[in-house]
Amino acid sequence: MDLVEFQGKQLFARNGVPVPPVGSVCRTVEEITRAAEKHLADGASAVVVKAQVKTGGRGKAGGVKLATTADEAQEHARSILGLDIKGHVVSVVYVEPASDIAEEYYLSVMHDRVNKGHLIICSREGGVDIEEVNRTNPDAVIKRTLTPAETTDGLPVEVARGIVTDADLPAEVVDPATDLLVNLFAAYRAEDATLAEINPLIRTTDDRVVALDSKISLDASAAFRHDDYSDWRLAGLEADDPLEAEAQEKGIQYVKLDGEVGVLGNGAGLVMATLDVVAQNGGRAANFLDVGGGASADAITESLALVFKDPAVKSVFINIFGGITRGEEVANGVVEATQRLGDFPQKLVVRLDGTNAGEGRRILEQAQHPNVIAAATMQEAAATAVDLARSA
Ligand code: GDP
Ligand code: MN
Repeated sequence: MDLVEFQGKQLFARNGVPVPPVGSVCRTVEEITRAAEKHLADGASAVVVKAQVKTGGRGKAGGVKLATTADEAQEHARSILGLDIKGHVVSVVYVEPASDIAEEYYLSVMHDRVNKGHLIICSREGGVDIEEVNRTNPDAVIKRTLTPAETTDGLPVEVARGIVTDADLPAEVVDPATDLLVNLFAAYRAEDATLAEINPLIRTTDDRVVALDSKISLDASAAFRHDDYSDWRLAGLEADDPLEAEAQEKGIQYVKLDGEVGVLGNGAGLVMATLDVVAQNGGRAANFLDVGGGASADAITESLALVFKDPAVKSVFINIFGGITRGEEVANGVVEATQRLGDFPQKLVVRLDGTNAGEGRRILEQAQHPNVIAAATMQEAAATAVDLARSA
């Protein structure tokens, strides 16, 4: 689950990561103008009007603008509200007292799955695309992976100091940047984030370090231990993929993809293999969906209903390997699900293998549902599902 900037800054603030003075969350030109008026009257020399969308590069796209008067803020409000930034339409704007920037740096902490640790990246060259800096000037990007064992008591101060120093941050900000990094790591840990990125981290003209931007992804699987996770899903803010959100509520393991062959299988490994075999047959999977071990009629009905909600789905490939769950149970689940779901235009190609697969296939054939096709092998099922998607 991704947060928008102002939410990330709230999360930073409560974990001791310095942020600019608190701004105002606005949804109309009127609100933006009044917020600017208020912050300017309170002593801000300028305000910054910032689109709150879950994508980067807002500045370049015209979604971040400084104003020194309320009139100017109003003009910016008109151009930013409704602006399309890489497919994200701006409906929420954050009006923040502007910071005086001396320099811009980069700092982030994220999961490093390959190295099974926490990756910290720091660079003196911030405010720009860090991947670009990494390509053109890799020496300017300091990367360090720490294992969980090295960070059981948090990020050690001397490690943080080493990173900040290696990144060549100026001497006058090494102390505050070290503290900030220790707190950033603590925030990332305490809030179960998978990514906490600050770009730019700024040195102000009075030598403080402040997170001028935030990009935070929280681990949705940790929602059970964070009562406030649901509060982050604010009214009026763009949701993460709505189908993924619905799947999460229902406890279904679902990831939206870009293709047209809906996929439903039992066991994450089998579903991954299913995506591969769809691709090998020239198709594209519309989703990842793991119904889990049981594959009961309830689970299959709910899962299929979800897959059908994606308008891109032209055919569905159900790939089940019977283990403890026997083939006839799965087949009965599929038959019952198709009855409960009523009419649907897409064809379902069902491949059943494993325990009592033959019995399962017989049940499917006997049910004679016009849209259900039983396939003997994974390859045959994939080829059929891809063909059906193409001709649908
Ligand atoms: P992004 O483009 O989506 O990454 O949005 P950012 O929040 O990083 O803002 C983009 C750029 O706008 C920053 O790198 C700054 O140069 C500039 N900017 C943002 N906030 C302020 C501010 O308070 N004061 C000044 N002077 N510039 C700002
Ligand atoms: Mn940024």
